[in-house]
Amino acid sequence: MDDIRLRFYNTLTRKLEPFESFEEGHARFYTCGPTVYNFSHIGNLRTFLFEDILRRTLKLFGWRVTQVMNLTDIDDKTIRSANEAGVSLREFTDQYIQAFFEDLDTLRIERAEHYPRATDYITEMAHLVKILEEGGHTYRSGDSIYYRISTFPAYGKLSRIRLDKNLAGARVDSDEYEKEDARDFVLWKAAKENEPSWDTEIGSGRPGWHLECSAMATSLLGETFDIHTGGVDNIFPHHENEIAQSEGASGKPFARFWLHAEHLNLESEKMAKSKGNFFTLRELIERGHDPVVIRYLLMSVPYRQKLNFTFDGLHAAEQGLERVANTLRRLDHTPEVEDDGDLNLTDIVAFRRHFREGLADDLNTAKALAALHTVLRQVNTALDGEGISAEVRSALFEAFDEANSVLGVFPEAEAGETTDDDEIQSLVEERTESRKNKDFARSDAIRNELEARGIVIEDTPHGPVWRRG
Ligand SMILES: [Zn+2]
Repeated sequence: MDDIRLRFYNTLTRKLEPFESFEEGHARFYTCGPTVYNFSHIGNLRTFLFEDILRRTLKLFGWRVTQVMNLTDIDDKTIRSANEAGVSLREFTDQYIQAFFEDLDTLRIERAEHYPRATDYITEMAHLVKILEEGGHTYRSGDSIYYRISTFPAYGKLSRIRLDKNLAGARVDSDEYEKEDARDFVLWKAAKENEPSWDTEIGSGRPGWHLECSAMATSLLGETFDIHTGGVDNIFPHHENEIAQSEGASGKPFARFWLHAEHLNLESEKMAKSKGNFFTLRELIERGHDPVVIRYLLMSVPYRQKLNFTFDGLHAAEQGLERVANTLRRLDHTPEVEDDGDLNLTDIVAFRRHFREGLADDLNTAKALAALHTVLRQVNTALDGEGISAEVRSALFEAFDEANSVLGVFPEAEAGETTDDDEIQSLVEERTESRKNKDFARSDAIRNELEARGIVIEDTPHGPVWRRG
């Protein structure tokens, strides 16, 4: 299957391109992380989940991965919120950093290799501004320092905005702004009352948001690396400004591939904290939704398509996952047949190939999941018919392990968590035994108990199998 090449849609070139890494066998990527002033909503988490699928897919295709995800613990929003809460910035952001990691674990998102906190890289940020000053890319106004975008002719190459030539001297101080306000942006904000500040080689103050990512990415991954990711909201101004800062300082390309995840809509409207129409992961769990179902729903739509989040969709995802769990359990507990059975090794090779082809096509998770559901139907048909041989069954489990190394949605008993699967299985076996011994009172009692727990037993030519109803 080495002939399947991984391809990504690169926002920089607006093309689907085969992925290659600068260092052989080692993929290095940078991910804009959360601004830790609140709980993540599932729109944010969709982007972090896309990055999880990216890292897991790179590993499936044989790359060693170094992923850096920053934690923005200082910007306009964190400072404002910490002041409103009346606590120090560190204390305020600590609680949301902890909550963020809990959310990642809940959604089975693998940990990145590095989670730099912006406030731990102030020296590096100041130094980057120093280099830009020496290169003639900046000017001072008051004690703040701005990036003069006319000194970087490539400005706009990622977002493809056209610059208004009459913007000389116009500048913007806030961290977030719209395309119409494309103009000189702030690198370093002068120290103010009620704001944390640091004394550095470029003076006293604090970093602008865009500067933070350039400094942390370069410190941990070098001046040039393979992939930079984020949400489509980040393309302008954030990523455009990151390029201007990093390439303006180093004179080298910053990242080769730029990948961006689309919005998540809630009942067709963009989910955003500023609009107040959002769900946090915590709220959905409080409403009784299983986080693995949420993971499955979020990955069911490829990352470059808008995902419309609805409760009907969540319910459909739950049914999809139940089909997976029921088939796996059935496969586990159905006796093997001696001969070839109804499923053969070629079917499994075809599944593995289709699954990889889906992911290789710009992380098309919908295609990969379709391949999974096709093979699950084949498994059920085989178990209804002639059965499955030991050899095929073990190849299937291997193929499923491989698929789940990317999907991360198969049932698993996590540490400290109990599952009643074993107990149900032994009740099912006891029922079979009672029927053999003509102890119908006992076998009926077991059936009733299982029914009360929502378990349906089917008697098949290969013995009973059970599923959750
Ligand atoms: Zn960033």
